Amino acid sequence: MDDDKEDTMMGGTGSRRRSSRSRKAKKTTDEEEEDEKKKRRRASKKTSSGLSTSSVMIDIEDFGKEQSFEIRSSLLDWYDNNQRDLPWRKTTTCSDRAYAVWVSEIMLQQTRVDTVIRYFIRWIHKWPTLVHLSHASLEEVNQMWAGLGYYRRARFLLEGAKFIVQQGGHFPTTLSELRKVPGIGDYTAGAIASIAFQQAVPVVDGNVVRVIARLKTISANPKDSTTVKAMWKLAGQLVDPDRPGDFNQALMELGATVCTLHNPSCSTCPVSGQCRALSVSINDRSVSVKDYPTKVVKAKKRHEFSAVTVVEIIEDEALMDQPQCNSRFLLVKRPDKGLLAGLWEFPSVPLIGEVDLVTRKDAIDQYLKSFDLESGSTCEVVLRKDVGEYVHIFSHIRLKMYIELLVLHLKGRKCVNLEKENMEWKYVNSKDVGSLGLTSGVRKVYDMIQKFKDTIPPKSDKKVPEKL
Ligand code: SF4
Repeated sequence: MDDDKEDTMMGGTGSRRRSSRSRKAKKTTDEEEEDEKKKRRRASKKTSSGLSTSSVMIDIEDFGKEQSFEIRSSLLDWYDNNQRDLPWRKTTTCSDRAYAVWVSEIMLQQTRVDTVIRYFIRWIHKWPTLVHLSHASLEEVNQMWAGLGYYRRARFLLEGAKFIVQQGGHFPTTLSELRKVPGIGDYTAGAIASIAFQQAVPVVDGNVVRVIARLKTISANPKDSTTVKAMWKLAGQLVDPDRPGDFNQALMELGATVCTLHNPSCSTCPVSGQCRALSVSINDRSVSVKDYPTKVVKAKKRHEFSAVTVVEIIEDEALMDQPQCNSRFLLVKRPDKGLLAGLWEFPSVPLIGEVDLVTRKDAIDQYLKSFDLESGSTCEVVLRKDVGEYVHIFSHIRLKMYIELLVLHLKGRKCVNLEKENMEWKYVNSKDVGSLGLTSGVRKVYDMIQKFKDTIPPKSDKKVPEKL
């Protein structure tokens, strides 16, 4: 609409007036039509759910007994014939299944099923039981989790395993006991209790919310706590008392494979006969099943900036561009709380906005003094180059990193001073960096550095390095 306006204003006065009038008339017609559509939508939603969009969820009518029975039976029949062959569904004992459900559900909160299968198989191979996991180190767990994101969840898996083993090693079976385990919330507790221990309790994830919102044409904000509460109540009315685990998996699987966000396949849906959204959309072309649940506008990401310096220590300057060069990289551990807590990264300094190169280098130089790295006194700069920028997107942050490579030769020391190492920072041999469980952002930075190094001309062509 704004573009149209601009085009019209480019014409002469007469044409502008004419265009303005006709635009106004068109706009009025469009607006009237849109208003009419909105009214129809509101009316249809109101009559179908008994709610207006702003209504509170406590007014949502329950699933009747007959309706619940029909949904259960249709969904379980469909699940029996269509369930996916997933590795965490192949366990035999309740305890093994509880562990498998726990690990897989936490992983599934991170990414898609296809990716989780790979991670799950590797995880179970390394730690086949809860007891095995309880003996793992956080480093190992982070390494196994690398690439999945939200490392806090991996840490909770480890803490949870240790907690259960300390309590005697028996996997809790009830919702209340499961909720006491670090990192297990309502969703995971419901999944473990129903799938592993056949307790008739519901599970509500994004897929379940979408299916229920469509089945009942619920227009309220799905993120609102009142709505969430109502969804748990409705899911509890649906859950099959005889096959709760299968039913919950069926409902989630329906949302993941049939009643999808952008492309619901209503023609093949086993509960289409019970679906209000489908029925409303058939009677009113202005309504789509995709109108449910209401789309929530995501909060804008915070913009952050940092200067990242990959510090490489080489023992012999002459060997720098040789593959066999025995170099080490400085890695620093992040604080135990906050973003990427306790994970290793290249030295980095947060910046206030987009600052210039000199300011960035000054900030980094100051920071590196805490590692006993000071040009002229403890080390010589062999190479210092800007490598580029990289933007990493977290769920709530957009982090722009300015990457540089800093190659140093330590003065008067044959090798890196290992006595200086502590829990907060360490030097890692170049040949070991690839096998470390680095986060995807850190790995991306490392890859950029490697690519950049491939472009460095032979030593004789190198320019005099900048000072540290
Ligand atoms: S009929 Fe369509 S909208 Fe309704 S539950 Fe099935 S797939 Fe979802």
